[in-house]
Amino acid sequence: MSSLQQNTRETGAESVREFDAIVVGAGFAGLYQLLSLRELGLSARVLEAGDGVGGTWYWNRYPGARCDSESYYYSYSFSDELQQEWEWTERYPEQPEIMRYLNYVADKFDLRPDIQLETRVTEARFDEDANRWEIRTEGGERFFTQFLITAVGCLSAANVPDIKGLESFEGDWHHTGGWPHEGVDFTGKRVGVVGTGSTGIQAIPAIAEQAAHLTVFQRTANYSVPARNAPMDPEFQEEVKENYGEIRRKQRESINGHPFDINEQSALEVPEEERQATYEAAWETGGLQFRAAFSDLVVNKEANDTASEFIRDKIRDTVEDPETAEKLTPYDHPFASKRPPIDTGYFETFNRDNVTLVDIKSSPIEEITPKGIRTTDAEYELDSIVFATGFDALTGPLLNLNIRGKGGLSLKEKWSDGPRMYLGLQTAGFPNMFTITGPGSPSVLTNMPTNIEQHVEWISDCIQYMRERGLDHIEATVDAEEAWVEHVNEAADRTLLPLAKSSWYLGANVPGKPRVFMPYAGGLGTYIQKCDHAAAKGYEGFDLTSRAVAAERQG
Ligand code: NAP
Repeated sequence: MSSLQQNTRETGAESVREFDAIVVGAGFAGLYQLLSLRELGLSARVLEAGDGVGGTWYWNRYPGARCDSESYYYSYSFSDELQQEWEWTERYPEQPEIMRYLNYVADKFDLRPDIQLETRVTEARFDEDANRWEIRTEGGERFFTQFLITAVGCLSAANVPDIKGLESFEGDWHHTGGWPHEGVDFTGKRVGVVGTGSTGIQAIPAIAEQAAHLTVFQRTANYSVPARNAPMDPEFQEEVKENYGEIRRKQRESINGHPFDINEQSALEVPEEERQATYEAAWETGGLQFRAAFSDLVVNKEANDTASEFIRDKIRDTVEDPETAEKLTPYDHPFASKRPPIDTGYFETFNRDNVTLVDIKSSPIEEITPKGIRTTDAEYELDSIVFATGFDALTGPLLNLNIRGKGGLSLKEKWSDGPRMYLGLQTAGFPNMFTITGPGSPSVLTNMPTNIEQHVEWISDCIQYMRERGLDHIEATVDAEEAWVEHVNEAADRTLLPLAKSSWYLGANVPGKPRVFMPYAGGLGTYIQKCDHAAAKGYEGFDLTSRAVAAERQG
């Protein structure tokens, strides 16, 4: 019998369900959190808006969708059996392969009975008297739970730009983060793609191959490094499996959760010829490890300039039309100060006869007309528009849950000047609520499954600690939160990341969103040490109590 059946009681027309823990979201984070809570013996339920597991990967199925981290480490490490038996087919897994993997995990660990699909959470409210959360869903269900764990992902609230006239468009339009499951056939169509972040850079070459004509509307030019995707080499896969212990250790001790080595030399300490040869070799290897070509590319502007200029030269060499090449060349931010996209034939796509680049920084979009997109310069007739315009990152998915903590304070009010969390795990005033990869944790600056696993295990250990001591209430203190927010800002300021003024790390892509650097840039290894240190000191920075004992003392 599943815990759903065990914990359901019917009250009139309404069904009310009680659990020890409710987890919101069935992606990488929600699946592992469910398993981990089950192992503690807790009754737990995952509520998921989609009609399948997969989270961000469930929604992002646009053409060309592929992971930018390598398959052998963009995966769970918690089960050696799983990592030994699963066979990846490519260097970077395509979206359908990640979906097969996550579905396999759901089946292997028999997770489905405790996952409730097509259940969108619309409200969560902390009841101080009862010391529990009440959760409501779009379908009118109510749940009560001691622990609320959000596993909603960082990039799951689509940012559809508010452009005048969209509703008048006679063709079809889609945001990449909510792609139709049946796919979209662009054959013979005139397609416009708005946005040239990681998503646009993946989708543009794939759409160009199908469409009659593709017009790319670019606001900010971006750096991109070739992915060099290839079928997985069976010998390499074997080697990885034999060395997983070491690979996973390296990931957890690294800055970004990737197991590759960072060159210890500064880009500025080697002669020009050697520097260029190092970049050439990194370019040939491809992928996110281009950042590891030298030790200081993300912290020293002068060092970074050498990498940025190397990539600019590659763009000029690749794109045949000098005017198009110039438009595609980024000058406004240092390489890797935004999440660096990796691509398969992105710059080459602009050499195709059926592709046009429109610079909407110099000629902004004025409106969408029934026939297409009109900029200050011209009207572009289109049959389909694709918005690769990113996400209301990190905070958007949490705020969409309409969470209210102590005293009825809403998370929206509390975070009106930007997110405030302690360790990215809890926010003061919202007891017994944990967030997996929340603002203030390394999250999007890392290989996500690594940070997710660390968070899940930390949360489960914390709950176990509480249960062993008869504690039922945990809340980050305001002092710990303030100190952590300050530390997050200092860590960002030690890097070049805040220099990218149009970055979603800063919330700059969403009009009206507070400009606050959200992820923790101090490195995953350092971050894990800080979390472990807090736990070892009896969850320093958190108030842990037993409500019954507290009430007795008061009475
Ligand atoms: P993004 O990096 O935020 O890029 C959005 C693009 O849309 C930018 O070029 C932005 O221009 C443009 N844009 C936004 N609003 C606009 C507007 N109103 N008018 C015109 N242009 C507008 O979003 P993303 O490409 O979806 O990527 C987000 C993150 O998702 C990535 O950084 C990465 O972490 C993750 N991701 C991962 C993978 C992977 O693993 N394979 C793939 C895709 C995405 P501005 O730069 O001027 O704001």
